[in-house]
Amino acid sequence: MAIEKTIPYGRQNISDEDIQRVVEVLKSDYLTQGPMVPEFENQICSYAGSKYATAVNSGTSALHIACLALGLGKGDWLWTTPITFVASANCGLYCGAKIDFIDIDPETWNLSIEKLKLKLEAAENSNRLPKIVVAVHLCGYPCDMEIIHELSKQYGFHVIEDASHAVGGKYKGEPIGSCQFSDITVFSFHPVKTITTGEGGMAVTNDRELSTRMELFRSHGITRDPMLMTGKTHGPWYYQQIELGYNYRMTDLQAALGISQLRRIDEFIARRHYIAKRYDEELAGYPLQKPHRSSDKYSGMHLYVVRLKEKQANTTRHEMFDSLRKQGIGVNVHYIPVHTQPYYKKMGFTFGDFPEAEQYYSEAISLPMFPDLTDEDIETVVGAVRKSLK
Ligand SMILES: *Cc1c(COP(=O)(O)O)cnc(C)c1O
Repeated sequence: MAIEKTIPYGRQNISDEDIQRVVEVLKSDYLTQGPMVPEFENQICSYAGSKYATAVNSGTSALHIACLALGLGKGDWLWTTPITFVASANCGLYCGAKIDFIDIDPETWNLSIEKLKLKLEAAENSNRLPKIVVAVHLCGYPCDMEIIHELSKQYGFHVIEDASHAVGGKYKGEPIGSCQFSDITVFSFHPVKTITTGEGGMAVTNDRELSTRMELFRSHGITRDPMLMTGKTHGPWYYQQIELGYNYRMTDLQAALGISQLRRIDEFIARRHYIAKRYDEELAGYPLQKPHRSSDKYSGMHLYVVRLKEKQANTTRHEMFDSLRKQGIGVNVHYIPVHTQPYYKKMGFTFGDFPEAEQYYSEAISLPMFPDLTDEDIETVVGAVRKSLK
């Protein structure tokens, strides 16, 4: 039987208007460092409820400048969850810090608050408290930020929200990005994410000084602000490099696409929730654990992951995955626990360190989840999942 098309697990939605906005920039005076980047930053601030925003060329760069702005360096510790994309941990390594992980909660799949508390108590006794905890809102489902915030005050660490999956989500009625319970929140605009700029990212904060520092690190550590310079300015042409920064700038082409995409974000997320509800209903009664829900959290619904309860099923995750791929469903697995990656194993991590994360990994499959998935596609996916479970 020939497969006519494969339904991917994620896909961008690009409108004629999006294309037109990018073409307008191509015909304008500025391809980069023009008016579109600050405009996009302002619009993200209004949408996500933060005071400041720094647009960069990827979510990974946003995580890096966030760590740099918070002063992460050699000898410091950064903690995050093992069930995330490697970038959530790598940002600490870029700064010369050491990485450790907090095992996940088997229900929410985010970092476990109980495990975090225990780990902090132990770390306090051995003087190994983290400088930064990166809280990842896996699949778009917000972490328990209020408790993480309380712990950060008690133990004196900073909090970065890795909201690569969660732009458009809400926690206790406030948009993800309002940074009510964190120092900095980071978004990614990779094409599989909720809105896209091709490659791109944003770091938002309510702290002016952090924002200034992130801007510095985005662009070579160079400033034109006489207030930040040592000594006197030589004249209007003068700039100073006062930190070792990078070229992490977003282009105006990307920002124009982002501005245009942002106009449809709520539509995108509503459609994602509709698809999730259909999956919840159509797959009820099957041996699959579905994404957690709670009334005080509105998920960005970036991914729809199911966990196969192998003991109650007649199949394994591997067989189910192969069956779905064979049926033209572009399923995926998010994520391979970071501590089991060879690069991290070389630091001493080993299989068995974070059992809940490893159990999750052995059961997880991401079903297709993107706004252009049609009702017919949903039925195709559901039919294929049911078949794979026989
Ligand atoms: C996508 C992603 C990133 C990195 O974003 P890029 O824009 O691809 O650099 C970081 N963390 C998580 C959880 C992600 O899903």
